Amino acid sequence: MIERSQQLHDRARRSMPGGVSSPVRAFDAVGGTPRHIVSARGAYLTDADGNRLLDFVGGWGAAILGHGHHAVALAVREQARIGTAYGVCTPREAELAERARERVPAVEMLRFVNSGTEAVMSGVRLARAATGRDVVIKFEGNYHGHADGLLGSAGSGPLTLGVSALHGVPESATRSTLVLPYNNADALAEAFERYGEQIAAVLVEPIAGNMGLVLPRAGFLESARALTRRHGALLVFDEVMTGFRVERGGAQVRRGVTPDLTTFGKVLGGGLPIGAYGGRRGLMEQIAPAGDVYQVGTASGNPLTMAAGIATHDRLDARAYERLERHAARAAEGLRRVFGESACVSHAGARLGVAVGVASVRDRAGARAADHALYARFFHEMLERGVHLPPSGYEAWFVSLAHERAEIDHLLSAAEESWSALSASRVWKEARGASC
Ligand SMILES: *Cc1c(COP(=O)(O)O)cnc(C)c1O
Repeated sequence: MIERSQQLHDRARRSMPGGVSSPVRAFDAVGGTPRHIVSARGAYLTDADGNRLLDFVGGWGAAILGHGHHAVALAVREQARIGTAYGVCTPREAELAERARERVPAVEMLRFVNSGTEAVMSGVRLARAATGRDVVIKFEGNYHGHADGLLGSAGSGPLTLGVSALHGVPESATRSTLVLPYNNADALAEAFERYGEQIAAVLVEPIAGNMGLVLPRAGFLESARALTRRHGALLVFDEVMTGFRVERGGAQVRRGVTPDLTTFGKVLGGGLPIGAYGGRRGLMEQIAPAGDVYQVGTASGNPLTMAAGIATHDRLDARAYERLERHAARAAEGLRRVFGESACVSHAGARLGVAVGVASVRDRAGARAADHALYARFFHEMLERGVHLPPSGYEAWFVSLAHERAEIDHLLSAAEESWSALSASRVWKEARGASC
C-alpha cells in the first residue's frame, strides 16, 4: 500500500519542483513514487501508509547512530528550550570543533558552515587565496556539492539523472576547473606537467561515494599528495561523506594520506544541517576575521546543530566503529554471496556499494557501465520486501549503529529473494569475474 505516499507526492508536486527538496530523493531513476516518511526510529523508516522500511539511505549518511537516537533527541530538545538561533558566540561551537580536532589530526582548526556544498565552496576559496592560483582539479564522478565551478561531471544527482548540471552555470565559473578521471594518477601527473604553476588545489573524495562506492587504487591518493606538494598546490579531501564514518578519523586516517584541507558535513552535525572545513592553523587563520579570506554565515555554528553533533560524537567511540565495520563487512560478504559474479560489491567502513552487471568499478566510466535498469528493478523488489535502498545505482548504501545482526540478516534475505526473483527473468549484462 502506497496510497498515502502517492497522494502526498501529488500534493508536494503542486508546490515544489518534482515534489522534492533535493533531486536525489525523487524516484526518477528507478520509477515509481517516493515513500513519504512520517517517522523513523533506529534503522527503520515508517511511511505515511504505515509501512515499516529497513533504511539504507540513512539521511545520506548523517544518521550514523540510527534515527531518533534518544541522546541526540534529548540534546536537541534541551537546546531548543533555551534558544535555537543566537547568531552570536556560544560555547558548544568550540566543543564540537574540539571533538573534530581530536579525531582528525590534520585538522588543527575548523570553520563551521551549513552544508557540504558551502564547506567545499569555502575550502576552495581558501585554497585559491592561500596559493594565489586559480585552477582546481576535480575528478569525474566525485560530487562536491552544487557550487557553480564544481558541478561539471559531478556524481550523485547529475550522474543519476543523466543531466549535464551546467545549465545556468556561466562558462567563466568552470574555466578554472580541470576535470580528470578518478583513480588515474598518470592523468593527474600530466595535468601538473602542463598546468603545475596555475593549480591551486586538487579536490578529491578520498573514497568516492557518489558514483556508487569506488575505492582509491593503491598509489592514487599518494600521487595526489606528492604532486600537490611538489608543485605548491593544496590537497583537499572532501570528507563530507567519509568523515567520522569510514572510521573515527575518516578516510585520511584509514588510507594514511594527510591532506592540507578537509571538508566535512553529514555525520558531523548528527543529522542536523552542517558543513565544516579545516586544516593547519596557518592556513585556517587566513579566514576572516583572523585573516582576510572572507566567509560568513547567519546559521553557522547553530546551537541545535552543535548539540546534535556533540551528542553524536560522544557515542562514536572505538567500539562503535568496530561494530559498524563488522556489520558492514558482514553485509558486504553476504551480498557477494547473493550476487556471485553478477555484481561488484564493495565496502569501506559503514558504507556499501553494489554495482550490478559489472566486475569492477574504478571510475565514472565503470560506474556508468553498470546495469542501472536492473538496479531499478532490484530496488523495487527490495522495497516490496521492506528494505529502502538509495533510489539510484550511483549512490552508496549507509549502515548505522542501529543496523544490528537482525537488520543485516533482513537485508541479505531480502536481497537473496529479490535477486532470485529477477534471475527468473535474467536480462543483465554478463559480468566477467567479479574482482572488486
Ligand atoms: C553530500 C556531499 C556533499 C554536499 O553536501 P550537502 O550538505 O548536500 O551540500 C559534498 N561532498 C560530498 C563528498 C558529499 O557526499
